[in-house]
Formats: sequence, structure tokens, C-alpha cells
Amino acid sequence: MEKEKKFVEAITSMEEDFAKWYTDVVKKAELVDYSSVRGCMIIRPYGYAIWENIQKYLDSMLKETGHENVYMPLFIPENLLKKEAEHVEGFAPEVAWVTHGGNEELTERLCVRPTSETLFCDHYSKIIQSYKDLPKLYNQWCSVVRWEKTTRPFLRTTEFLWQEGHTAHATAEEAQEETIRMLNIYAKLCEEILAIPVVKGQKTDKEKFAGAKATYTIESLMHDGKALQCGTSHNFGDGFARAFDIQYTDKDGKLKYVHQTSWGITTRLIGAIIMVHGDNSGLVLPPAIAPTQLIIIPIAMHKPGVVEKAAELKERLSKVARVNMDVSDKMPGWKFSEYEMKGVPLRLEVGPKDIEKNQVVLVRRDSREKIVVSMDEIETKIPEILQDIQRSLLEKARAAQLEKTSTATTLDEFVDLINNKPGFIKAMWCGERECEDKIKELTSATSRCMPFEQEHVSDTCICCGKPAKKLVYWGRAY
Ligand code: AMP
Ligand code: ZN
Repeated sequence: MEKEKKFVEAITSMEEDFAKWYTDVVKKAELVDYSSVRGCMIIRPYGYAIWENIQKYLDSMLKETGHENVYMPLFIPENLLKKEAEHVEGFAPEVAWVTHGGNEELTERLCVRPTSETLFCDHYSKIIQSYKDLPKLYNQWCSVVRWEKTTRPFLRTTEFLWQEGHTAHATAEEAQEETIRMLNIYAKLCEEILAIPVVKGQKTDKEKFAGAKATYTIESLMHDGKALQCGTSHNFGDGFARAFDIQYTDKDGKLKYVHQTSWGITTRLIGAIIMVHGDNSGLVLPPAIAPTQLIIIPIAMHKPGVVEKAAELKERLSKVARVNMDVSDKMPGWKFSEYEMKGVPLRLEVGPKDIEKNQVVLVRRDSREKIVVSMDEIETKIPEILQDIQRSLLEKARAAQLEKTSTATTLDEFVDLINNKPGFIKAMWCGERECEDKIKELTSATSRCMPFEQEHVSDTCICCGKPAKKLVYWGRAY
């Protein structure tokens, strides 16, 4: 018990220091390690396994909706990056450049992709000729580099893993449909798989992607009341097509520009899982993405028949869940806290007394509830409990988000809320950039999105008092 205590004490409590709690969890749960390059992280096997589960789910959704995976080069020649003016202006400050190949200076600098619009566009301009070539629905799984000023594991790293979808369509309507379709897939991923509730909406012009006509986002709230952008989907209209000359001959024989979209989610989502579900004992993983859904811990392992029974249970349960067993010689109490730290959704304890009674003891990670189940029923009961954990994690996160969402109708109220009740603040806005800038300056809150579900909470802009155009979700964000 002494050892167990030490293990738990090693993480800072959330209430004491949320940022420290977060970094303690990512290290202690063995998700990442720091590397020798600032802002770049080593994703360890346990962290990578979570990413693989996110990938598996999303990749199958992308294929179901007709997308194909491709691979583009890591480098973008400078002239290509510069082709779309707004895009280069937005990304230039955070681009890493390659200037030398071996000892030779390159005649043209190459940037390490911060995103690959320009590469896809260049390729599309060559392979799209006719309406028969459309739509092009491409996706790439890769890493990108953005020279971020402040970094944090998963949430904001210099290099991060992601998928970037890039599509080209014959009409503006089709491009808009695709943009929203993908946003909805991201929302589904977050809610159904990661148990993270999101607000869907459109970014203001200030916050939209460089070169996009419209950017849509899913926003979530962390334990500490800070917002996190979980995924974005952009409609480019024909802006990139004009810059890269991507034209096709339509059925009527006329040359037309394509309409494009792009969308991405990143390893940041793992940070969201930690900060939405985690607690002072560590990580709490939704069963749908947990690398291990059930950990079997034999009690009084030295007693005859215990390890054999545990192995038999593992074999049986492997058919219905992702199961592991720990037969190392650590004390059970130590193992309990270790797997709690790692967020394994369900623990199964089995000892001589349980064997005698033909039962096992299950302990839920989320509620710590103990459930005694007959060994004859484990194959049906365990998947049911896992499903219930998945459902209740989402429910709990929904309730927390609701509790942290407030409405302000005056600027004073806004300032008071942002300082004393961190979370989303719903407030009306006139649509002017000036007011957004002023709110940020005053409160360090940014507009998170103009939600699809609009409400009318007051007649005037929270900042300038002019007639309001939109309800906006505001918040301090990661
Ligand atoms: P963007 O291409 O800027 O629309 O970003 C696509 C997605 O990447 C968004 O959901 C961002 O929240 C996320 N993201 C942006 N920068 C980083 C970063 N440095 N590390 C991890 N995720 C990021
Ligand atoms: Zn205003």
C-alpha cells in the first residue's frame, strides 16, 4: 500500500495546477516523452495505440464516404507555396525551411509542409481535365510541421500527426455539402468514439483558415473551462483553383474552375481525451479507443490455479474485448493504480475466493463501482458494462459542458464570467472585426464559433452596442 500511495502522489492534482496535472498524466500514463527538439514529442506505444484506434475508425468512415488515401511529398517548393496570396501570408510565419541539400545551397528553398493545399492543387491542375474526373476525394495521413511559439504535448506541437482531406468538385453546392459532411463525421468521431461533446459552427473571418472562403469547426470544453478546437473543415470556393489554374471541361463544353475543400483532425484529439475525461488518478479512456479495454489482475497469484484461471478468462474474453492480463510480481494495489493511471476502462480481479464462488470482481475506471459477476456471464456482461462506460462518459462530459456554458448580455457580465466561471460564453456580436479584437484584448477570449444552432440572447453586440448579427461562442482557448 505504501508503494501504491507514492505512485498516486506523483501526479499533481487538477485543482492545484491543471497544466502540471496534464503534463504529469501524459508522462505517467506513458503516452509521450519529450524529445531533443523543442516542441516535438515522442509518441510512445501506448499513446500511439490510441492514435491508431482513432485512425482506424476515421479511415473507415472516410472510405465509406468515397475518399481515397494518397501520399504527397514532405517538401513544398517556395514558388508553389506563394501561389495563393492569403494562404502564404497566413502560414509564412510558422514555416520551417530547408535551404541546403548536403553541403550545397539549394537554388530554391523548400518548406516542410505545414499543410498540403498547394501540393494537392498543383497535382489536381494536372490530373483534372473533364467533369468526368470529378469529384476528386483525396485524403492523406501524414505529419506536418508548424513552428509554434508555445507548445504542449498533443495540444500544440511543432510536428503533429494528422489526416488532411482535399477534395475538388464541379459545383459550389457540392463543395459546401462536402465541407459540412466532413464536419459532421468529425463531430461523430468526437461524440460517439471519444465521448467528447462538441459545438458545431462557423469560424469568424478573423479565425478562418488562410485562403478559405469559410471555415467550420467543432469546439469542445476542457475540465478547466478552456476551449479546444477539435477539428476544422474548410470551403475554398474556387480561390485555389484560380491561383493554380484547376479547370475542367463541363458537359456544356465550357471550361470551369473546380470548387475545393480541405479538412483535418490531429493528435491534438488525444489531448482533448485527457483533459475532458481524466481525473486525479490519471487518464480515463473511452472504451471505443482504449488500447486495453479490460485488464485482468489475479489476486493471491501464488495460490494454485489462480494464474491458470486468469489466463483462461483472458482467452475467453479476448473474443469480446481488447483484454490484457498482468501477472508480473508487483503488488495488486500497485497494479490497480498503474492501470488507473493509464485509464483502462475496466479491471477484472480474480482470486481464490472468487474462483470458489465462480465469480469475478469488476471495477469501473470512470465511477470506481465494483460489480460482482458470475463467471458464466462474463462474455455478455463485460461488453455491456463497456458500452455503459462509453455512454456515461459522454453524458458526464455533456453535463460538464452545459454547466460551463453561460450567457452574457453586457460586457461587464462577460468579463465577470470569463474571470470567475471559465467556459463558453454565449454572446451576441455585430459582425465587426474591431469588436472581436477588442474582446480579445480585454479578456483574452476569442470567438470560438458562430454555432449552427443560433439563438437570440439580446438585440445588440456585446461590445459596441450596435445591432447584433450573430450569436457567438466565446472562450479562452488552448
Ligand atoms: P488547420 O489546418 O489550421 O485548420 O488545422 C487543422 C487541425 O489541426 C485543427 O483542428 C487544429 O485544431 C489542429 N492543429 C493546429 N495546429 C496544431 C498543432 N500545432 N498541434 C496539434 N494540432 C494542431
Ligand atoms: Zn460590435
